[in-house]
Amino acid sequence: MKVFFSDRAFASVLAETTEKIKTETGGLFLGKVVGDSWYIVEAIDPGPKSVFEVAYFEYDKNYTQHLINKIANLYQEKLELIGLWHRHPGSFDHFSSTDDGTNAKYASMRKEGAISGLVNIDPTFRFTMYHVARPCAYRKIAYEVGDDLIPDELLKYKTPDRFYDLMKKRLSGSSRRRSAEPEYTVSVSLESFMEFILPQLGNECEDPTIENDISEEELQMKLTEGIIDDLTFMVDTVGIRVEAVIKEQFLVISQETVDKTTRIYFMYQQEKDQIIFSYGDKCYQYHSGLFQQASIKAAQEKAEQANAEQANAEQEKAEQANAEQAQPDKPDKEKKQKGLFGTVKKIIPFRKDEK
Ligand SMILES: [Zn+2]
Repeated sequence: MKVFFSDRAFASVLAETTEKIKTETGGLFLGKVVGDSWYIVEAIDPGPKSVFEVAYFEYDKNYTQHLINKIANLYQEKLELIGLWHRHPGSFDHFSSTDDGTNAKYASMRKEGAISGLVNIDPTFRFTMYHVARPCAYRKIAYEVGDDLIPDELLKYKTPDRFYDLMKKRLSGSSRRRSAEPEYTVSVSLESFMEFILPQLGNECEDPTIENDISEEELQMKLTEGIIDDLTFMVDTVGIRVEAVIKEQFLVISQETVDKTTRIYFMYQQEKDQIIFSYGDKCYQYHSGLFQQASIKAAQEKAEQANAEQANAEQEKAEQANAEQAQPDKPDKEKKQKGLFGTVKKIIPFRKDEK
């Protein structure tokens, strides 16, 4: 197995690393998998709203999706999202547990898995490429750079004739009717997630007033930094489709479903240097990672409860069987845990351009 970069894709990685030399950064790979060869035709940057910190990095998803569509549309062959890369501080050329999650997500998108690269500057540029087999098994693989190593048809743009043809098709209106119909997707409901974790949240706040005299940017930073971990957890791990927007003093996380809109309002109290949030008609104290911790606790409680119920049931059965027959003792705990969030799903309308 081997990776082949086009000259342009490799230059893009070098350019991005150079621009953000002091922080962690990264990007996505567009190309094609042919047998054992991973051809990277384009490497796109993570976007202006991505988060760069040492050892932490997050893509600007709207931007990257936009760019993937734009760039892929230029090429004759259909380019696909086949992998990603990011920079690590120092000489650390293995993946963190956060990286495992991200890599597993990309690997799950195709049967061949994905490739994931790590850049280190120690003190010169070094690129370690890994193949990520599903669900998340790593193998180091070699790479080479050069347009001459890439099949010609992968580097070809659509011809003008092909574009003229596509223009004609789009003008004919057959696609307009289709896009007027709303499309729907099924997602885990924000409401059911909140009901699940609420009993674990504890401290309600006594004084929900907010009086801040810090700048809007500073306020937005405080709120964004405070909830980014939980937001990532909710979207990537739990699979809740939400929108996060900043409105005046609030950071609002919302989910619009066919039958209702669920909203959580996060606010910053400067006096106490504390984030609070309101959900339903109550207000709670918040700290970074609270939702993830609460959901782990809730899951543990639910699993314990299920185990206790099962133990009871088994004991009864065992008594009934009068200890004559051996009892199968294979708890289906795994199955039960998987269903924790998945049981309540909601239909969510979404814009076509989100796809
Ligand atoms: Zn990493």
